[in-house]
Amino acid sequence: MLTTTILAARCSAKPALAAARSATTLRFARGYASSPEYDVVVVGGGPGGYVAAIKASQLGLKTACVEGRGALGGTCLNVGCIPSKSLLHNSHLYHQAVHDFKKRGIEISDVKINLPQMLGQKEKSVKGLTGGIELLFKKNKTDYVKGWGKIVSPNEVSVEGEDGQKTIKTKNIIIATGSEVTPFPGVEIDEEVIVSSTGALSLKKVPEKMIVIGGGVIGLELGSVWGRLGAQVTTVEYMDAIGAGMDADIAKTFQRVLAKQGMKFKLSTKVISATKNSNGKVDVVVEAAKGGKQEKFEVDVVLVAIGRRPLTKGLGLESVGVEVDNKGRVKADHEFKTNVPGIRAIGDVIAGPMLAHKAEEEGIAAVEYIAGGHGHVNYGAIPSVIYTYPEVAWVGKTEAEAKAAGIKYKIGSFPFAANSRAKTMDDYEGTIKIISEAETDKIVGAHIIGPNAGEMIAEAVLAIEYGASSEDIARTCHAHPTLSEAFKEACMATYDKPIHF
Ligand code: FAD
Ligand code: NAD
Repeated sequence: MLTTTILAARCSAKPALAAARSATTLRFARGYASSPEYDVVVVGGGPGGYVAAIKASQLGLKTACVEGRGALGGTCLNVGCIPSKSLLHNSHLYHQAVHDFKKRGIEISDVKINLPQMLGQKEKSVKGLTGGIELLFKKNKTDYVKGWGKIVSPNEVSVEGEDGQKTIKTKNIIIATGSEVTPFPGVEIDEEVIVSSTGALSLKKVPEKMIVIGGGVIGLELGSVWGRLGAQVTTVEYMDAIGAGMDADIAKTFQRVLAKQGMKFKLSTKVISATKNSNGKVDVVVEAAKGGKQEKFEVDVVLVAIGRRPLTKGLGLESVGVEVDNKGRVKADHEFKTNVPGIRAIGDVIAGPMLAHKAEEEGIAAVEYIAGGHGHVNYGAIPSVIYTYPEVAWVGKTEAEAKAAGIKYKIGSFPFAANSRAKTMDDYEGTIKIISEAETDKIVGAHIIGPNAGEMIAEAVLAIEYGASSEDIARTCHAHPTLSEAFKEACMATYDKPIHF
């Protein structure tokens, strides 16, 4: 049953969106006069920048994308999402072969890691995908300008490339320069024994002992990779919970599951120092966040994963007067306009979650604003996924956020242990937690830890995007036996009783 609130939301929001889309399409069909040289120059070829550039070209705008790293795809494809997921996938297969196959009746012997081969596989996926974007640029007639861009005026970007310096003229500039690793004061990253995420994607051998500073997304994903391959991993986290802001119940389950896999945790703990010693190892000193007795460890590798910061160095923001906030993020309004007319900004370099799909959404919307005056990003419906084993995924509000917002809510939860598909897979660690408004039953948050959580969250995103109630989902037929039935039953549990638990 749909509530009136939900119906009203559906009736008002979707026609507006449709109108925005057709207005955009109409305007582009007529095309644009291309003087000065470009309609749009995008600085940065990551998921925000390259998607914006392709979309702009598709909409008939003469577009160039400036990228300095020598390959398209940004952090995500070169040193982020893609290489980390390749290593997560293959290290999981190895771990399963060693620790899990036997109980499934599959007996193999002499399982070994061939690390160069595993790293080679990762590189193959990176090269295939970054090369694919170049092809997409060609197909869409998007100009790829190789070199580091500097904004010299609201209509000019100077590019320093291998073949010298040139200045390109444009009506619009989109800043999509992304982010870089936040350094840890006093800890020198050499990308060999003291590494950032980039070094941790290419370690030459499996460390015996590893300390991860920061129990956020990168720390848990890359800590899992090396832990599965045999390292003893200890995660040092300043806060009293892992997961950088995920729902507290899920974070507790997550920590318990990772601990069972062998990962050690030091929560509410700060790192005092990490220095390379004469044995080529790293001495790490930690103490309780509130102060107290210090502990010292000698480890083979330290991963610094305490967050990322916007990358605007050398971009010329000061000279053209583009404002940044107190965290160095380019200030942008809901149309991604900066304070300087003609210059917009998207992705990791502006406020909001540092996620590839958020950058992509913003890239498309920014271009649609330029071309047709309309765009759309629903920040309430941006999913987060941690690609560990099991995966953790969520969208919308956590329980603490719902409480803080004064929302009267109901909780429905369902364990994978009661889901038939999870049982057949013998893979049933985890649970689903749905938060819905008490009065309207509208879903305001969905939190999953369990097999395929990262795929399953798409249903929750769609539910939130379309203002569905948990009863809408529970009354929607889900195939049997699938993991998604657990989602349906968790929704059922918010307003009624689930059938199988
Ligand atoms: P970026 O991808 O950082 O791209 C910016 C580009 O701009 C870079 O290529 C840079 O070289 C270029 N550039 C900068 N300055 C200039 C200049 N002056 N001139 C020319 N070019 C310039 N997100 C997810 O959603 N899912 C994941 O699984 C995920 N995994 C991650 C794993 C790791 C290890 C890391 C580090 C990040 C991960 N992220 C993930 C985050 C994701 O990579 C970022 O949110 C995303 O890449 C941001 O896109 P962007 O286009 O804003 O910036
Ligand atoms: P993060 O913000 O996810 O986690 C950083 C963690 O470090 C936090 O838990 C924080 O409390 C802790 N921390 C900060 N200072 C500390 C200190 N001095 N000592 C100990 N702990 C400290 O950042 P990250 O893991 O570096 O990831 C950076 C960004 O990349 C994130 O915004 C994330 O969204 C993105 N990313 C996404 C994915 C994904 O979507 N699967 C994967 C990797 C990275």
